Amino acid sequence: MRLRIRGPVDQEALRRALTAIAARHEALRSTVALDADGLPYAVVHDPATVPLTAHPLGADPERVARTAAAHVFDTGGEAPLIRADLCPLDGGDAELVVVVDHLAFDGGSVAILMTELDAELSGRVVAEPAVQVGDVAIHDATALEAELARLRAFWAEELDGAPVADPAPPDLTAARVIRPLPEALTAGVAALARACGATPFAVYLAAIALASGEQDALVGMSAARRARPELLGVIGPLIDSLPVRVRPEAGLTFRDLVRQAAGAATRAWAHQEIPPADLPRAPVLLAMQHDEVPVRLGRLELLTDLGSGAAVHELSVLINRSAGGPELHVEYATSRLTAGRAEAYADRLLWLLARVLDDPGRPLAAHDLVTPAERATLLAGATGPALPRFPATIPGAIAAHTTGTAATGPDGTALSYADLHAWSDRVAHALVAHGVRPGEVVGACLPRDHLTPAVLLAVWKAGAAYLPLDPDHPADRLRALAGDAGARVILARAEARSALGAPPQDVRPAEAAPVILDADHLAATAPVAAATAALPVVVPGDLAYVLHTSGSTGRPKGVEVTHGGLAAFVAGMTEALRLTGDDVHLAVAPLTFDISATELWSTLAAGATVAVVDRATAVDGHALAEALERTGATVADLVPTAFRMLLAAGWQGDGRLRAIAGGETLDAALAGEILARTGELWNAYGPTEASVTSTMHRVTKDEPGPIPIGRPMPGERAYIVDSALRLVPPGAVGELLLGGAGVARGYRGQDTGAFVADPFEPGGRCYRTGDLVRARPDGVLEFHGRRDHQVKVRGYRIELGEIESALREVADGVVTVVGEGAEAHLVGYLAPGQAGVEAAEHHLRTRLPAHMVPRRWVTLAELPALPNGKIDRRALPEPEAERAEHKPLSTDPEHLAAAVWADVLERPEIWADDDFFTLGGHSFAATRVVGRLRETLGLAVPVRLLFERPVLADFAAGLEELLVAELMGGERA
Ligand code: AMP
Ligand code: MG
Repeated sequence: MRLRIRGPVDQEALRRALTAIAARHEALRSTVALDADGLPYAVVHDPATVPLTAHPLGADPERVARTAAAHVFDTGGEAPLIRADLCPLDGGDAELVVVVDHLAFDGGSVAILMTELDAELSGRVVAEPAVQVGDVAIHDATALEAELARLRAFWAEELDGAPVADPAPPDLTAARVIRPLPEALTAGVAALARACGATPFAVYLAAIALASGEQDALVGMSAARRARPELLGVIGPLIDSLPVRVRPEAGLTFRDLVRQAAGAATRAWAHQEIPPADLPRAPVLLAMQHDEVPVRLGRLELLTDLGSGAAVHELSVLINRSAGGPELHVEYATSRLTAGRAEAYADRLLWLLARVLDDPGRPLAAHDLVTPAERATLLAGATGPALPRFPATIPGAIAAHTTGTAATGPDGTALSYADLHAWSDRVAHALVAHGVRPGEVVGACLPRDHLTPAVLLAVWKAGAAYLPLDPDHPADRLRALAGDAGARVILARAEARSALGAPPQDVRPAEAAPVILDADHLAATAPVAAATAALPVVVPGDLAYVLHTSGSTGRPKGVEVTHGGLAAFVAGMTEALRLTGDDVHLAVAPLTFDISATELWSTLAAGATVAVVDRATAVDGHALAEALERTGATVADLVPTAFRMLLAAGWQGDGRLRAIAGGETLDAALAGEILARTGELWNAYGPTEASVTSTMHRVTKDEPGPIPIGRPMPGERAYIVDSALRLVPPGAVGELLLGGAGVARGYRGQDTGAFVADPFEPGGRCYRTGDLVRARPDGVLEFHGRRDHQVKVRGYRIELGEIESALREVADGVVTVVGEGAEAHLVGYLAPGQAGVEAAEHHLRTRLPAHMVPRRWVTLAELPALPNGKIDRRALPEPEAERAEHKPLSTDPEHLAAAVWADVLERPEIWADDDFFTLGGHSFAATRVVGRLRETLGLAVPVRLLFERPVLADFAAGLEELLVAELMGGERA
């Protein structure tokens, strides 16, 4: 603190006065030591002279104070925890800067120190304090267990479900920003407090909660523990920080919020006698200087109650009084916040206070959370660069390329650009001849080969949008999706045709089943003359594809992506990756996953080559590594799980490869491994609803912490908002709201409320992602998880509700995800009923793609329920796939395979009738299994074998067949 001393000061007398105060109060001469078990205990040292530095006349007190505040006390040593600087001023007065370690001091101590200093300087006798801080600690340690239990129960209920702050910063160095509090503002605060039957403290508390931008906020309240009269004269850290839970929900007014905050603060204060370690930390602390603290006392005048240089919280808001008037202090940990952010915080808080005091009856949602200046900065940061010059649509871009190889298939067959155009033109004409009209949706059920892009391009050339139908999915689902999208025609090819099954028997004549056309047949039989007739011209507003994502209500949502959105994405991607006609891009993703749009369309738009791999390769790390090498791929866009499979297969990488990871969180360790094996690595983020990728980050070596998702791509907008779609303050976590060129038209035939008008750009549209993000100070976005129950399992986006609604058709049950990253997998919980595990799993298999069918099941006597009747997901037991009887291993291959499974799945024992996937196996684990077998047997075991024969005995029999075949092959040669 800084004091002005009126009149002449005797330096020695001052030193004696301070030394006497330090002698009287044990807190000022206690330091911390560690006992043999490493536990801290307090050591009270003998009184010692307090260091007082006298500065010459003319020394700048401001500067002296700044240096003094930065002093770090040796709290493990013997020094008194107080020191002072004296600066003589012109005219005979002096300024005294007193710095005390925060371990020894609090707001209430300021008044005591001033009172005693005044008495000492005027020669009055000062009484010894009745108790010392140590007595308080002993009182705390002996608190009754029963009383503690009652307090713990209160806090557990009060804070149930409240957000938790990040751990305290390890470096507690603090700095302060000080702003005067205008008279009008403090008067307004007092008036509002009176009107609400609350204190000014509650008004500041409410304002801080509102400024957090959260709907549910914890604000630390510093509460003095000076309720007992004998503590009123003790210098020491007699202050607790109690979390106060304030919920600035959009529908409330600021008046409501003040009353709510006052109630919460009173409750907290009434339950403060709990050890601080039992309470969570709040990100911001509010402390108001005591009314007892005198601003003037005898010859002393309080200039500022300056901090000690050490923070307890990331951010503390102090409402202080000084001889110069009331002040707002924002104390911040320099390891967490920059001076600029702290200043912005102080200014925003004052600005927001002025707004809500102006109109305390207005709904909170109507108040901006950021100042106009911040709003401008945030909006600029949310806007991606201008779109580079690029063709308006992808078919337009592809038309410009006429030479070179467009695509290769898994067997090496190549399709030239000339053939791509000729083939797709013929099929497009045939589609038009079959009545396909511009704007309609055409299903595409295709094998993965060199003609895959040609079929899809044909749909576009006919003016239609394609709907990918994965031949690996159940026929019923394919028909349901085609029906949902309103597809009258499905284009199929080769073996994929059979995936659609026989047309259902029970169709009423009015809703005719879609016509299935064989694309190969159309290409072969289209009359050559037709090729000269004009095809429709595709424009940016036309639909490019409809892609279904999982829907929580049980109905998949068909996302309608436009040519304009797709072209904008491809333009940005082309620029970022500097794609040219020389590139080779491996195409791995199923067409039902929009990463396939990157693989196919950014490549063909550049005149480069798409190297299509089949499903068996996509799930097999060894095969995938081999495909990258064989095709000479220069670009690969894979989900993190696929990169993990590559690494598990011993992939060496290629310095020429540009790697894109996307679809789910990229962890730093994996990123480091990929980067070490490639020329460059990008983390691409984006939901299907905003045309593939919306933000990208180029990963650099030694990236600190989690890998961010980057900045908005050209033409895109990425706002961070709260539930009322207001911009959250810089540095706060909020929902990512995507706008700009990539936003899809909507969900086909459904309105879930996820697509909204752009709140910041008239005429624009936005998609609410449900993803939580935070902007770093440099504007780069960090991913912070989901707002809801949507999950990602090895890159697949799944709403658990969709699986559960299919499950409910046959049984009562819930589905959850167990494990993280590569280990994540679905587990189903069933209540006993009509259908057992086998029947339930079989039913799901007919309704859902394989990645949505749990392979591990737990049968419960009853599903755990919350008081409101909903299922209590947190009470679901850990899955343990134990059965009563096991079939023992018999043959050598069974023993060999079981040893490898046991190792990879980390299980003590494997039985002959164990199912690889029921034990928690998945494609990444499968790659490791076949890797081991390859090493041991010197035999190329395809991962496919595990998928086709997941039961150990069958798998081992398959191994044996492969071995025999290899031996026979060897003999023939
Ligand atoms: P999808 O529509 O399948 O592309 O899934 C989109 C969702 O996947 C996003 O809303 C995110 O939750 C998640 N996601 C996509 N890319 C990333 C990424 N790079 N990092 C973290 N999550 C991601
Ligand atoms: Mg995506």
